[in-house]
Amino acid sequence: MKDSFGRIIDYLRISLTDRCNFHCLYCMPPEGIKLIPHKEILTFEEVYILAKIFSQKGIKYIKLTGGEPLLRKEICSLIRMLNSIPEIKEVTLTTNGFFLEKMADKLKKAGIHRINISLDTLNPVKFKKITKSGDIKPVLKGIDRAIEVGFSPVKLNCVIMRGINDDEILSFIEFAKIKGLEIKFIELMPAKFNNFSFGRFQDLLFTSDEIKEKIPYRMKKRKKIGIGPEDAFILENGVKIGFIDAISHKFCHLCNRMRLSSTGVLTPCLMSSVGINLKKALRPKPIPEVLDDLINEALLLKPKEHTNYDFISDMSKIGG
Ligand code: SAM
Repeated sequence: MKDSFGRIIDYLRISLTDRCNFHCLYCMPPEGIKLIPHKEILTFEEVYILAKIFSQKGIKYIKLTGGEPLLRKEICSLIRMLNSIPEIKEVTLTTNGFFLEKMADKLKKAGIHRINISLDTLNPVKFKKITKSGDIKPVLKGIDRAIEVGFSPVKLNCVIMRGINDDEILSFIEFAKIKGLEIKFIELMPAKFNNFSFGRFQDLLFTSDEIKEKIPYRMKKRKKIGIGPEDAFILENGVKIGFIDAISHKFCHLCNRMRLSSTGVLTPCLMSSVGINLKKALRPKPIPEVLDDLINEALLLKPKEHTNYDFISDMSKIGG
């Protein structure tokens, strides 16, 4: 798939649910979100039908996200279904790690190629504050288990926020060194409920350049790795890190992705509220030609770039 600006779109992020067992400060409004009724959420069969159509249009990589994707029962059967599509090269997963201790082995066997675990602090008290009551212990055990069952690399997604966890950058690097993890530092992105309950976006934003200043190791740039727009480096201590700095260093020209919400809305850009509802051509019976047209329509809506003031409508629903 090629968009109006010549970018090849080969990566689809699929949010499997709006539900999450954590309520991270920067992801959900303090009052929580109004949950989508179950019947509105795509079934695995529907996700599979869409994935097949997408794959015929050039999607090669699928990332499962949420909400918390591991809250979807029988997720492994969906993973197997997606892996049975010959054009799909990789099915990867982003998770908060809470259920990984139990599930890592099954996920590996079902064919998850790589795993990203979101972790913004190593401090249990701070963890409770950021996730609004989450317990860090199962997440740490989940990380160990993911390593044990052979995921490689296991990557941490870490959103650094000024005054919240910008003092932990080095601790994260040491943690990654000990465990053999990679780290992806993600810049805080604005959300619809901006300002955040814990501060103004502009005050909390801690840019990739500021993060680099805090790293005492020499850094060598790595060639483009993976399928995303990550700016990747290897530190002199051997730890591999990367930056997703969508705010301070826009990388829209490299964007290769679209996002499918758990209710079937296809969004061409994370930072805009435009989306096309595919469900209307899925129910009561899928109409492949109409789905194909709707996907093309969404593709045409993909903007050349985002402005930093188009707030993300619902990070917890769209899946980051
Ligand atoms: N529950 C899963 C998880 O924790 O990875 C998947 C969903 S979560 C929305 C996906 C990613 O989006 C996480 O790494 C999270 O840190 C990131 N995220 C959510 N809100 C964000 C924001 N306002 N700015 C930057 N990243 C955000």
